[in-house]
Amino acid sequence: MRLGIMGGTFDPIHYGHLFVAEESRVRFQLSSVMFIPNGLPPHKQGCEVTPPEDRYAMTEIATASNPYFECSRIELVRSGPSYTIDTLEWLERERPDADLVMITGIDAIAEILTWRRHQEVIQRTTFIAATRPGFDIQYLKDRLPTDYLSRIATIGSTSLGISSTDIRARVQAGSPIRYLTPDGVAEYIKEHRLYLSDGSDMSNPSDVGDPLSAIAASHAVAAGRGQKERTEL
Ligand code: ATP
Ligand code: MG
Repeated sequence: MRLGIMGGTFDPIHYGHLFVAEESRVRFQLSSVMFIPNGLPPHKQGCEVTPPEDRYAMTEIATASNPYFECSRIELVRSGPSYTIDTLEWLERERPDADLVMITGIDAIAEILTWRRHQEVIQRTTFIAATRPGFDIQYLKDRLPTDYLSRIATIGSTSLGISSTDIRARVQAGSPIRYLTPDGVAEYIKEHRLYLSDGSDMSNPSDVGDPLSAIAASHAVAAGRGQKERTEL
């Protein structure tokens, strides 16, 4: 059996993650996909990251409706930074019968040369890398040696320009996130008041302004000016 592994910060999980996991499952005949939210992401140390339990809860909510998806707390219970090699060794012990296939975006796998014990990681598993807007196959070819590239299958027929960074910024700005992430995740974010560092309410957009009234106002000014010009003629 082939087991897909989808790791990430999932802060929050969104349809980009879910679509890539499902596309990989079907295309590469994976028996299931395990989502593994990381505890303390090594590459995000020093940044503010939402508590692991919230990220895990949102991941569970988002994956619940797909019988082929499962979630693991392994990186949450392990202390210290979450390294892929540690998770891989745990999975090899836990699922000895499975061929492990890591699913990532091209932006993430392009950094593999900075990962702890990356030669072992690339030798012990295969990768599926998904394109994202701004990160195509050429981006990967420009950065990785050919023996690494030969262990990476790419998917990219449909790329979704959704990111957790954008979702966090949207919540903060009071912009909608519906249809970027499952409803249950959007509700969790609202209920737990995530991503509102200034304590404002996401149902009350503060700094978005009203672009339509601005347009209407500029029309009114133009119309007034036209009136005046006609009078003068
Ligand atoms: P952030 O903006 O906070 O970095 P993110 O949207 O990149 O969040 P991560 O949790 O960092 O999400 O990503 C987990 C994995 O999912 C990574 O391998 C990343 O490349 C991949 N991924 C995230 N969003 C997409 C997307 N829209 N399309 C393809 N892959 C994605
Ligand atoms: Mg990311």
